[in-house]
Amino acid sequence: MDVDSDSDISLFGDEDPRAKGKGKGKASERPRKGKAKRKAKEQAYTWEASYTRSWDTVQEDETGSLQGSVEDLMARGRRRRLLAPASAIRRTIIRHLVLILDLSNSMMDRDFRPTRFDLALRYAREFVAEWFDQNPLGQIGVVGMRSGLGERVGEMSGNPQDVLRSLSDRAKLEPAGEPSLQNAIEMARGNMSHLPTQSSREILIIYGSLTTCDPGNIHETLEVCVKSRIRISIIALAAEMKICRELSDKTGGKFGVAMNEGHFKDLLFELVPPPVQQATIRNAGSGSGNPPADLMMMGFPTRLPDTSTPSLCACHSDMKSEGFLCPRCMAKVCDVPTDCDICGLMIVSSPHLARSYHHLFPVKPYEAVASLDDTSQSASACHACARPFPAAPSSGVVTEGISPLGRYRCPDCHHDFCTECDVFVHDVVHCCPGCGK
Ligand SMILES: [Zn+2]
Ligand SMILES: [Zn+2]
Ligand SMILES: [Zn+2]
Ligand SMILES: [Zn+2]
Repeated sequence: MDVDSDSDISLFGDEDPRAKGKGKGKASERPRKGKAKRKAKEQAYTWEASYTRSWDTVQEDETGSLQGSVEDLMARGRRRRLLAPASAIRRTIIRHLVLILDLSNSMMDRDFRPTRFDLALRYAREFVAEWFDQNPLGQIGVVGMRSGLGERVGEMSGNPQDVLRSLSDRAKLEPAGEPSLQNAIEMARGNMSHLPTQSSREILIIYGSLTTCDPGNIHETLEVCVKSRIRISIIALAAEMKICRELSDKTGGKFGVAMNEGHFKDLLFELVPPPVQQATIRNAGSGSGNPPADLMMMGFPTRLPDTSTPSLCACHSDMKSEGFLCPRCMAKVCDVPTDCDICGLMIVSSPHLARSYHHLFPVKPYEAVASLDDTSQSASACHACARPFPAAPSSGVVTEGISPLGRYRCPDCHHDFCTECDVFVHDVVHCCPGCGK
């Protein structure tokens, strides 16, 4: 296949495998080609066979209760999430993300309920809320792909309400026509071209189509993105396309095909924590080695009370009372975090900065306790919530990071914590209650 221009699609077969798997009635209407196909139809598809339904693995305990199994299942899922790298890593906390939504006709497919479009929109809103919670110094812009064009849906903004508002009007975003990856990426790139080097530039594409309709060579766009260190992540709702895989692989982003609603959400929310800065990605553009950490200038603004005299803001030329004053040039801006429109200083509020801090110094993962060798030393209750540990066999085997005793020990202060507190400390508190690290 000539992979020169816009339509280099590589599917697993010669037709969309999802269409066959999802709608049985639709599939049987299609003409079958050859015996192999007919035979394959009788067998379970591999992607169906490998899928273990969570309710099949649940076992009742002696008393016929499911409680134990359910807890075990939940604990395992949560602990798996905690197995992420915990050493101090370099992350970008000042993030700039452009969310590109496919608004083409293919988004009206009903293989995701109620439609791909409605589900994508709902998850996008949840994603934006969660993203701003974890990345208070970040900014998100929204671009739509519709009728072969890139459309600016929402300006780059650090205010979650602005972004959510741009995603809330369903009628305005009604899908139409063909998508154009190149046009949308070029527009997103234009939104981010002015950004300073220490901030991350990311593009997240939710893509429901199997084609793209581009004015030029998208590989040239890809080259430029690699040079300007834009990380492109793509979540496909239909099937894998070669160009999508290439876009994300070459720019250091992630690529995934959503298998069902839950998986779609998982793929999306994996992109919420700030990305790790990798040496290879950083070197791709400049050619210099891993640069030393450099200081950056930030200003903490003065907040104007609602009762102050109305004046024009520097960003929109609106007459209003509330706002923030740039500490360097005293210009008035509407929202933080932002770059001052007059002097270019980065303006952040200190609580935002403090909330971003924990990503850089994660709490060490607690060790699952396998056996109580020294009973005199071990506390009988969780150090954080003071709930007594269950009376369990004194030893057992740690499987998938689950302690048979329900005890998790901090490697620094050697206090024991229960499962719930373990997850709460690592996901929410970001500070060990035993040692404060
Ligand atoms: Zn303004
Ligand atoms: Zn200023
Ligand atoms: Zn506890
Ligand atoms: Zn500790």
